[in-house]
Amino acid sequence: MLIKRVLPALLILTFAVYFIARYKGPEPGILTTIDKSNLKKYWKISEVNLDEGGFLLEKNSASITSRFRLRDFELTLKLKTTKGAVGQLNFSTSKSYDSKRSRGYSVMINNSDYSTGIAQKTGSLSKIRNNYILTAENNNWFELKIEVHGNHIHVSVNDKLISEYTEPQSIRRLENLSGIVLSRSFISLHKTSDQGKIVVAEMKIKPIIEKSSREILPFKPDSLTDIIDSLNQREFPMIDFHVHLKGGLTMSQACEHARENGFNYGVAANCGLKFPVTNDSTLISYLKSIQNEPVFKAMQCEGREWVTLFTPEAVAGFDYIFTDAMTWTDDKGRRLRLWMPEETFIDDDQHFMDMLVGKIEAILDGEPVDIHVNPTYLPAKLAPRYDELWTNERMDKVIDALLRNQVALEINSRFKLPSIAFIKKAKAAGVKFTFGTNNAKNDDLNRLEYSIKAIKEAGLTKDDMFLPRARADRKILKKGLPAKVTG
Ligand SMILES: [Zn+2]
Repeated sequence: MLIKRVLPALLILTFAVYFIARYKGPEPGILTTIDKSNLKKYWKISEVNLDEGGFLLEKNSASITSRFRLRDFELTLKLKTTKGAVGQLNFSTSKSYDSKRSRGYSVMINNSDYSTGIAQKTGSLSKIRNNYILTAENNNWFELKIEVHGNHIHVSVNDKLISEYTEPQSIRRLENLSGIVLSRSFISLHKTSDQGKIVVAEMKIKPIIEKSSREILPFKPDSLTDIIDSLNQREFPMIDFHVHLKGGLTMSQACEHARENGFNYGVAANCGLKFPVTNDSTLISYLKSIQNEPVFKAMQCEGREWVTLFTPEAVAGFDYIFTDAMTWTDDKGRRLRLWMPEETFIDDDQHFMDMLVGKIEAILDGEPVDIHVNPTYLPAKLAPRYDELWTNERMDKVIDALLRNQVALEINSRFKLPSIAFIKKAKAAGVKFTFGTNNAKNDDLNRLEYSIKAIKEAGLTKDDMFLPRARADRKILKKGLPAKVTG
């Protein structure tokens, strides 16, 4: 009995002593700067040029790989990329890199513009917590920090937390991704593109080998966690493009909600007549105030008057812009706001519907927006008859207008709009989609439940999804603004 208890403990102790004795890395518990003087002592280098004020990785598959194994650590790199450069910082990985049979976790280094090159940007914990938001710029120094403590992984860029992940006790991965699991293993930096350069000015590492300093965080998965994890593993862009800092919701609360749930956020300012952002100067100062936040910067174009208030150059500062068809002036000259019963005038149901469809077409044809949001929204009086009033003919008119203007269609998680039938029809026609919540307060950020239902029921794939256009390619710059209001 005693042997049964003592023997396993002795074995564990022997292994622990053996591994600690064999560990040949930088001193545990303290921060060691890795520079030219000690690089080769601790790291194996391949195709790395040490002459250019740091470590230069230029050739595809140039790499730096640790000679030591670690499970827990804090690692900071000061980096610069040039156009076309893509790299990966791998940990819990193998000694020799094999892009097809990856082992361990991978943090993306990629500062290419939107819709050019790889969609995942710097700070993405690839296929686990994907990040699609630009967090650093080519030709500028930035700091990438990776922390692994217990079962918790943090990835930060320039001191902003980008990806956060708690590895659960029972890990579920797609078959070809079963190697993505924390282990006491190697750390490596690899260049994975032919073009561009990655320069490492400085590396700092703090190894952690004391078990007592590891923290195992509790993690309670639920049915939605599993689905979102699996969509991330398939690199389905889980992005909520329509979030407002309203009702006391702060930027840091919004970012935390996104990280915890495994998606990215686009935060939108409401811009228009009688809104806080109402001209170029308030627009520019707003954009400046959020420029370093790890969210897409979005403009919600309010009312129909917005086209007269801003210049295209200022609007092009946003990653994308969107509007809905909930505010317009009817053929009797009355300004309607469809979510307010006292400002909604319906003399005849069918005539109202035809007028609504006409307004949607005029808005999509005239206003250079990227996304049509809160789509197919009906006033409370008509909403119960949604399926009857949104006839095939009316759906087709909206879908045609989306296609001819290359406007993406929002699948709204709060309003649960448009209907699954509409989404199926739009998908078949080739419309691109976005997900959006359009929260009204600080407690109604959901978890994209309706969007996830739409993925399943309409069979959406990552190719059906919209991603922001490259800066030079923005619609507002190409199309300009209409001379007068559209509706
Ligand atoms: Zn909104």
